[in-house]
Parts: sequence; structure tokens; C-alpha cells
Amino acid sequence: MSQPQSISRSKSLPQLRKRRIAFAFDIDGVIHTKGNVHPNARGTIGYLQQRGIPFIFLTNAGLRTEQARAEYIKQMLGLELKTSQFVQVHTPFLDLLPAYADKTVLAIGYRGDHIRDLAHAQGFEHVITPADLTVAYRDHYPRYCHFGHVPISEADRHYARPLPQNPPELRIHAILVYCEPDDPAWANCAFLIIDLLLSRHGRPGTRSELNDTPALPNRGYLQDHPPALHFCNLDPLPTSRDPDSQKLKPGAKPAMVRAMVAANPSHVQKRPYLWSHLKPQHQDLSFQILVEETFSALTGGASTNTLGMGKPFEVTFSYAERRLRKLAHDHDLAMRASDPVSLPREPLQTVYMIGDTADTDILGANTFRSRHGIEWKSVLVETGVYRRGEVPDFPPTAVQRGVGEAVEWALTESGNLEEADLTI
Ligand SMILES: [Mg+2]
Repeated sequence: MSQPQSISRSKSLPQLRKRRIAFAFDIDGVIHTKGNVHPNARGTIGYLQQRGIPFIFLTNAGLRTEQARAEYIKQMLGLELKTSQFVQVHTPFLDLLPAYADKTVLAIGYRGDHIRDLAHAQGFEHVITPADLTVAYRDHYPRYCHFGHVPISEADRHYARPLPQNPPELRIHAILVYCEPDDPAWANCAFLIIDLLLSRHGRPGTRSELNDTPALPNRGYLQDHPPALHFCNLDPLPTSRDPDSQKLKPGAKPAMVRAMVAANPSHVQKRPYLWSHLKPQHQDLSFQILVEETFSALTGGASTNTLGMGKPFEVTFSYAERRLRKLAHDHDLAMRASDPVSLPREPLQTVYMIGDTADTDILGANTFRSRHGIEWKSVLVETGVYRRGEVPDFPPTAVQRGVGEAVEWALTESGNLEEADLTI
């Protein structure tokens, strides 16, 4: 991997072969911090818009609809932006609609109806929540805290929707984890997921007879059509909202959870609810690791086949690239419509990921391999999590001060900078 490089502003343009480019911008720490727009952000985004250079916002934020996120940023920047230019952490769930739009999905996240509403807004028609299951099937899914069994809360009773009286009559086709469940449901949700993974056809109260069959793949686990498990990964490390909070190295949190599994095998094997007092003080990635590691411990090493999304995962970068190619295509159609004799444009060649976090923005862009031959380059900016002088855990293609400098560098590097742009 090449070392970070920087450019010095020059009034003479190098003669570079011009490539067709696009941009993916992280939002928090790049466009704004705590609602304060960063210098040059508005001008830079507006400039790309004027020149018809495709761009999207690619954020690990979530918990609101894409429309709401777009509206928030549009108002902040004072620019007209399309909802299709926003890819949040759970936006790739939209790809699951053909399979699950009319099937029952279990949506996991904060208590109340917020996550159910979000899943409905995305297009999932039959959404149930952990509260629905624990209220309807209280004998099958007792709730625990570290003191032992706890009664169902008033909040859960309030938000729970009715389910079939007989648990196996319900079939859950997919589990969508929108974010880490909030305390105290954390451990209960983990074991609810595990219970359904062990079931036959995703039916509560059942066990697949194929489980623990060494001759079958994955020792027979997940071979009887349990729900597909999809996880969003909100930023696992401190974000630029809280850049001065205690920093954990990448991998530290999975290691902590694995250490807890190793230190408490009897809890995992016999009294899993005791996990509820081991909730680590960090976020989603550790919940995913808890589910995977506990499932592995309970099954003698079987995998959960989890599909993760959000930066730095491949699913998200693939989704983002598809959006950028579509934006480029739409732009070309509009140009042809206004000028029918114009020549068709070449396909996208390079995407620049502009971000402030090495282990999501930079790692994801560096490791993503496009199926369309598009090269992804990464630019780390100094306006968020990353601070000047630090050695990033994952080296970017370039380090630049802020979003304006990052775009100017990319335009220069790709042969797209025009004389008039030198004042960006
Ligand atoms: Mg960021």
C-alpha cells in the first residue's frame, strides 16, 4: 500500500489523462460536525453538482429514513440533493425487499416502535419486534437481567402487537438488526436470535432435527431454513461527535467479547441470561460478535452465516457503487436528451471515498474490489476522527486537510481539474 501523499497547490496544471470519476462522502466529520458545516463543504458539493460529477453520501449513520437524512443535509447545505444520493448503514436492506417485502421479518434495535416504523418505511410489510415475541410467547422467551427473571415491562406490553397463539404457526424469514438493542434487552435479543437460528423454518418453539449432524455442512446448523441474519454495523469506534472519548483500537471490542466468552463458558453453556450483566460499553459490532461467538460456543463451532453491512463491508461499497453508476447513467441520459448528437460518455473509472475514519471509510475503499473494473481510492481528512500527525491504521491513498482540499486533490490526480477550479 502506498504511503499517504499530499499535493501542493499549483497554478500550472499537469497534463494528466482525464478519467471519469465519482465521489462518495462520509458525512459526520467530513461535511459537518454536530451540525456545523465544515469550511468549503457547501461550495465543494455545489461545484460537483454543477459539473455533473456523480457523488453520494455514504454514512454509517442510520435510524432515520433516507428521505429524512436527505432533507437534513439538504437544509444544512442549502442544495438540492436526491434521496438516491444517500446511502445509510441500513440502506442496503432495500436489496432484501424482493425476497422479504411480504414475508415476516424480525426487526431488532431500540425498544418501542421506532425500528418497526423504519422497517415499514423501507418497504417491509410484516415486521415484528422482540417485544412482540416476548409478550406473546412469554413462556418460551422469558426475560432475564443479571438478577434473574424479570417481568415483562410496561413499555413492551404497550408496543407489542399480537402474534399467532401457537408459536410454531409464526414463520420468521429474516432477522434484520438495525442497531444494537438498548439495555436491558441486549442479551435477551442475542439469545432470541440464537433460538431462531436453531429452529426449523424460523418457527419459534421448534428445533431443527438437523442440528448437530456432523456429516452435514456447518454440522447441520442453519440447514433447515432458519431466518437469514443481517446485521448493520453502526460505527463501532468513537465518532467525530465524540472525538475525544476513549479510543479503542480496531479489533479491541471483538477481542473483549471473545475474552468474555472464554472466561465464562459455564454462563454460555448453562445460564446464558447471565450475559446481560456483561454488556460492554460499546456498540453494534460487539453485539454481532456476541451473537456469533455465543452461537459458536453453544454449537461446538458452527457459523451463523451473518451478512454484515455498513462501512467497511463489501455489501455496502458494492451498493454504493451501484448507486454511483446509476447516477452517472442518469446524467448521461439527461445530456443526450438535451443534446442528441453528443457522444456517449465513457463508464466510471475511479471513485474517491472521502472520509475521516480509517477503519471504516479508508479500509472499506482500500479493500473493495469492483466487479465493473472501477478503481476505488481513499482520502482521509483531518476534520473528524483522524487528527493530523497520527499514523492511520489503514493508510489512505492521500491525506488532505478537509473536504475542499480532498476534492481538489482528486480532480487534479484524475486530470479533471480545470483552470477555473484552482480557487475552490
Ligand atoms: Mg465520519
